Amino acid sequence: MSEHDHDHDEHDHDEHDAPLSDDEARAEAERLVRKEVALAQIRQYGDPVLRMRAADAESFDEELARITGRMTELMHDADGVGLAATQIGILRRFFVCTLDGEDHVLVNPVVTPVGDETETDDEGCLSLGSIRVPIERALRVEVEARDAAGEPVSLSLEGMDARVVQHELDHLDGVLLLDRTDAESRREALSQLRPRLVLTS
Ligand SMILES: [Zn+2]
Repeated sequence: MSEHDHDHDEHDHDEHDAPLSDDEARAEAERLVRKEVALAQIRQYGDPVLRMRAADAESFDEELARITGRMTELMHDADGVGLAATQIGILRRFFVCTLDGEDHVLVNPVVTPVGDETETDDEGCLSLGSIRVPIERALRVEVEARDAAGEPVSLSLEGMDARVVQHELDHLDGVLLLDRTDAESRREALSQLRPRLVLTS
C-alpha cells in the first residue's frame, strides 16, 4: 500500500512551511532518489507475477530473514506501509508491513474477518503507480502467522492496520485493487495505467 492513504504523508511540504534550507533540500532530493530506486525494484502493473498465487513458505532460514529485511527497507524507501513477496517476484506467502508504527514480517498468514462491519476508503499500491481507488474491507480482522524466525504471531487489527493486512494478503493470491473496486473507479484507473500513446512526427 502507499503511505498516501488518509492524506497524512509526513514528507509532504505544504504552502505554510518555511522554504527548505540547503540541507533539507538535499535530504528531500535524496529521499526522492531512494524512492525511485526502490520503486524500480518493485514489480509494476502488467507484470504477470502480480497475478499469480503464492505457495506457502517452507523454510524459516537465513535467506528468509535476509529477503524480509531487504523488503522492509524497500517498503520504507518507497514510502509504503506494506510489501508482499509477489511484488518483488517471489511466489511465497509472506509480506512485510508497518502496523501502528511497528514493522512486522508475516509468513503464511491466515486473515479472518471479525464481525460483519466493513469500511470503504481509498487505497494505493506500490505496484500501481499513483492510482487510488475506493476499496471496501472488513473493519476488524484476526491474523495468525509466523514471523521470519518461525515463531507464531497473533494480531487483532482494526481500521487502517486491518486494511493493510487485507491488501497484502490479496497480493499473495494475485488479487489487485482493480479487482476489488467499483466499475467506474476501475475504468478510470485503467485509463491511467495504460501506457499513453505518444505520437511523434
Ligand atoms: Zn499493493
